[in-house]
Amino acid sequence: MSLWSQYTLTYSIEEALRALETAPGPALPVAGGTDLLLELQQGHHPPIHTLVDITRIPELGRLEIQPSTSFPRSAWERSRPPWERALFIGAAVPVRRVVDSPLVQEHALCVSEACELIGGPQVRNTATLGGNVAHALPAADGMIALVAMDAQAEIASAQGRRLEPILKLFRGPGESALRLDREILVGFHLPLKQPGQASAFGRVMRPQGVALPILNTAVWIEREEELIRDIRIAFGPSGPVPQRATELEKALLGEKYSREAVAKAVALISTSLHFRTSAYRASAGYRYQLGEVLLEDVLAAAWNRTEQVVRI
Ligand SMILES: Cc1cc2nc3c(=O)[nH]c(=O)nc-3n(C[C@H](O)[C@H](O)[C@H](O)COP(=O)(O)OP(=O)(O)OC[C@H]3O[C@@H](n4cnc5c(N)ncnc54)[C@H](O)[C@@H]3O)c2cc1C
Repeated sequence: MSLWSQYTLTYSIEEALRALETAPGPALPVAGGTDLLLELQQGHHPPIHTLVDITRIPELGRLEIQPSTSFPRSAWERSRPPWERALFIGAAVPVRRVVDSPLVQEHALCVSEACELIGGPQVRNTATLGGNVAHALPAADGMIALVAMDAQAEIASAQGRRLEPILKLFRGPGESALRLDREILVGFHLPLKQPGQASAFGRVMRPQGVALPILNTAVWIEREEELIRDIRIAFGPSGPVPQRATELEKALLGEKYSREAVAKAVALISTSLHFRTSAYRASAGYRYQLGEVLLEDVLAAAWNRTEQVVRI
C-alpha cells in the first residue's frame, strides 16, 4: 500500500504554497523525508494525501551571506539592532552542506558541529535543517544550535513573508507552531560573527544510538578582555519546547571567565532546568549529572575560541 497518493515536485515557493492549498486531501511539505517518511511508514503519522517536495526550490537551497532582509519586521525584531548582513541557511540545505560550509564554520561553528552529529553519512546527505526545526523535537541537534545563535526563521505563506525568532516556532514536543499545511520555512538568518564572539556544541549519546541525544548543549559567547560580555546557552531536551537556559546565562553575564563563575552557573542546572526521564534514553537524575560536565566542556570550548578583544 502506498503511503501517499500524490508526490508533487515544486520549483518555487509560490508553486509549493499553491500545491499545499489545492491538494484534495491532507498535504505537507517534504524535504529529506528522514523524519516524515519514517513516521508514515511506521504508522506514527496521520495519513497524508499529497507530499509537496520543496528541495528543488532554489531559494531554499541557498547558503550565503545576505544583506539584512527587507521583509516587514516583527515587533520583536524592531526592538533589536538591525543587522546589516546575515548568514542565510536555506531550509532545504542538506545538513552535510551545512557541516562543510566555510561560512557556517566561520560564523556559526556550533551549527556546523551540531549538524555533523546528526545521524550517519546517508542521513546527513538528505536531512535538512528546515526539517530538523519543523519536526519540533526538543532535542534536535541542529535546532538547539540555532537557538544558541539566536537565529531568525523566514517563513512564507499566502499572506507573504515574515521573520520569527526561532523560539517562536514550537508548540510542544513534535508539534510545530507553524501551519505546516499552509506555511513553508524558507531558511534561517544568523548574525555574523564579530570580534570576541565564538560558539560550540556538544552532546551525549547512547553508544548504540542512531537518533536523538540523551542531552545536547550549544553555547554562544562574547568576550571583552577576561569578561563574559554576552552569552546564550541552550540545552536539549529541557522541556516540552526548546528554550534558553536564562538563569545560567544571567549567572555568567558580566563575570570574569573562571572556574568559580562556571561552577556557580553549573550549580543552577538542577534548580532551573527541567530534564525528564525518558524510557529510551536516560533518567532525569543522569541527565542532571551529565548536564554539569557537558556545560563545563562546551563553555570552555566556546571561550577558548574567542579572541581577546580590548575595547577602548
Ligand atoms: C537514522 C536517523 C538518525 C537520526 N539522527 C539524528 C540526530 O542524531 N540528531 C537529530 O537532531 N536528528 C536526527 N535524526 C532526525 C532527522 O534526520 C532530522 O530531524 C532531519 O533534519 C529532518 O529533516 P528532513 O529534511 O529529513 O525532514 P522531513 O522528514 O522531510 O520533514 C520533517 C517535518 O518537517 C516538515 N518540513 C520539512 N521541511 C520543511 C520546510 N522547509 N517548511 C515547512 N515544513 C517543513 C515536514 O512537513 C515534516 O513535518 C535522525 C533520523 C534518522 C532516520
